[in-house]
Amino acid sequence: MLNRLRQWMCPDLAIDLGTANTLIAVQGSGIVLDEPSVVALEKGSRRILGRGTAVGKLARQMMGRTPDSITAVRPLKDGVIQDFELCEAMLHYFIRKASPQRRGLRPRIVIAVPGGITPVEKRAVFNSAERAGAGRIYLVDEARAASIGAGLPISEPMASMVCDIGGGTTEVAILSLGEIISSQSIRVGGDAMDQAIVGYLRRHYSLRVGLATAENLRLEIGSAHPIESETTAEVSGADVVSGLPRKATITSEEVREALAESLEAIVDAVRGTLDTTGPDLAADLVQQGLVLAGGGALLPGLDRFLAEHTGLPVRLAGDPLTAVATGAQICLEHFNNWRSSLHSSDDDPWNRFDA
Ligand code: ADP
Ligand code: MG
Repeated sequence: MLNRLRQWMCPDLAIDLGTANTLIAVQGSGIVLDEPSVVALEKGSRRILGRGTAVGKLARQMMGRTPDSITAVRPLKDGVIQDFELCEAMLHYFIRKASPQRRGLRPRIVIAVPGGITPVEKRAVFNSAERAGAGRIYLVDEARAASIGAGLPISEPMASMVCDIGGGTTEVAILSLGEIISSQSIRVGGDAMDQAIVGYLRRHYSLRVGLATAENLRLEIGSAHPIESETTAEVSGADVVSGLPRKATITSEEVREALAESLEAIVDAVRGTLDTTGPDLAADLVQQGLVLAGGGALLPGLDRFLAEHTGLPVRLAGDPLTAVATGAQICLEHFNNWRSSLHSSDDDPWNRFDA
């Protein structure tokens, strides 16, 4: 009864704190917030613009095309907190936005984090969330959350495999009976792909473009597997030599070539994860296949590309971008079932250290 009242006054939250996007789900209401993990600062200071409101969508629009007086930054890099203070400010803003009526109560929060996170990085998440207003905090592996969100039967005595491709990292995991049997986390995702496109345009077209332009090009004509109607797109940038603005026409084949190395790394991670799995579970996977989640999964032809290079059937999660947040929310809703696989701030011997 008391719990129900607490729930009503201060609902529990599930957070997918991603390098590219932060999603928050509220117990009972589903996903209520979905914004880029970006904040905009006054240049040379640590002050967030607009009295702390230039966060998320608003800040994202400023990225790469800010006047000299403003910088737009991402508090996370490669799946982990890069800038502790800014991450806390961003989380604070998002948590307030997602659950405004708290009446002094602190919500219980489940946060999805990459599998490869170190104890120090874990503590940074705990501290950021705590100072941003969280009550008890639980961490769940991103790969586990993605599998649950994608509806995989991970509690069954049967192998399930997931590959979550985000902005900063790709997480691959094989699960059975609720446990992660084998996993790999690599620092390759959409950001590395965009870097590769920037490098490609510089080498082949002597054209300097920003990461936002590279991402737009990837979203417009990017692919992992030859597509039926190959296309072209125009990109604008600065000439490497003269510095003057210039345009170039790029083909979808060229973008694919630029992405090859990142895609190769993802294939290696999937293969590496399979290699350390026993033959029985591997046999399950030939049946069950690999499920793709994360925004990177939306790259056209990625399912076919991975199927050809791994021999597994591959399919996309129903909604790749929300799988982790949905999974984290399911962990909250079935808290007692999942409690043992969540890492609590109370279990962290270091957590109270500098609180
Ligand atoms: P993170 O978990 O790191 O925040 P997300 O799962 O939100 O990342 O995915 C963000 C990445 O997905 C970005 O690199 C973005 O470019 C990419 N992405 C989003 N939509 C698409 C799409 N339709 N096609 C290809 N990539 C996409
Ligand atoms: Mg993610």
